[in-house]
Amino acid sequence: MGQVNLTDTTKRYEDVVAVDGMNLEIEDGEFLCLVGPSGCGKSTTLEMISGLTLPSEGTVEIAGKDVTNDPPKDRDIAMVFQNIALFPHMNVYDNISFGLRLRDFDDDEIERRVKQAAKIVQLEGMLDRSPDELSGGQQQRVGIARAIVREPEVFLMDEPLANLDAKLRVHMRTEIQRLQKELGITTVYVTHDQEEAMTMSDRIAIINQGKLQQCAPPLTCYNEP
Ligand code: ADP
Ligand code: ADP
Repeated sequence: MGQVNLTDTTKRYEDVVAVDGMNLEIEDGEFLCLVGPSGCGKSTTLEMISGLTLPSEGTVEIAGKDVTNDPPKDRDIAMVFQNIALFPHMNVYDNISFGLRLRDFDDDEIERRVKQAAKIVQLEGMLDRSPDELSGGQQQRVGIARAIVREPEVFLMDEPLANLDAKLRVHMRTEIQRLQKELGITTVYVTHDQEEAMTMSDRIAIINQGKLQQCAPPLTCYNEP
């Protein structure tokens, strides 16, 4: 199923080692948070899982398959970013279905999946709205629906709540967590918000200067020296 394995995975830029020999096994259905200071290599780690960045060394496996050199479209993943970047000229329905159209799903299947995803994120009545008619939280839910409509094995999120106000952030935290458990999607979630990591994750991976320092359930992670 949707396990993710990084084995001795390294990413080097000219004068920087962004990720340094990462060994990480993420279980099927697990919610794993990547935390650590700015510049420690969280986004680069996520990008190597997504295929947006190729490792300099080591391997990436998704669902037991070596995908190290596969492009993003050949990986069974979906991503949600901090800046949701909905297409402003498309309505909610078309925004959610965009990725499916690229992949040549037929119209009936697209409609079935869009309706299901919209129901999950509670946007059923809003499919014909334009993004600028939605609140920040609703836009973020469109971003999430666009990801889950693909029915991926793995869900990658890079600070998806960072741009929302505090109240909405707490609400969406609960919502994402509920969804993740309901769908059983293996999730890798980047955040610099320790409280977010504590409340949402099954395990927290603490990264420092490109290296995995510790990977453990929240309480163990922050209560032991
Ligand atoms: P984080 O997400 O934890 O803030 P990043 O993964 O974005 O960290 O960055 C890790 C390190 O790699 C940083 O030192 C950053 O400057 C460097 N880096 C990231 N992307 C590039 C790039 N495209 N070119 C050169 N250096 C990069
Ligand atoms: P396309 O034009 O991409 O082939 P369709 O013919 O399926 O798409 O639908 C035409 C337009 O109607 C779509 O672009 C979409 O905006 C809208 N639409 C289709 N189904 C729904 C729906 N269930 N709810 C809201 N809007 C829909």
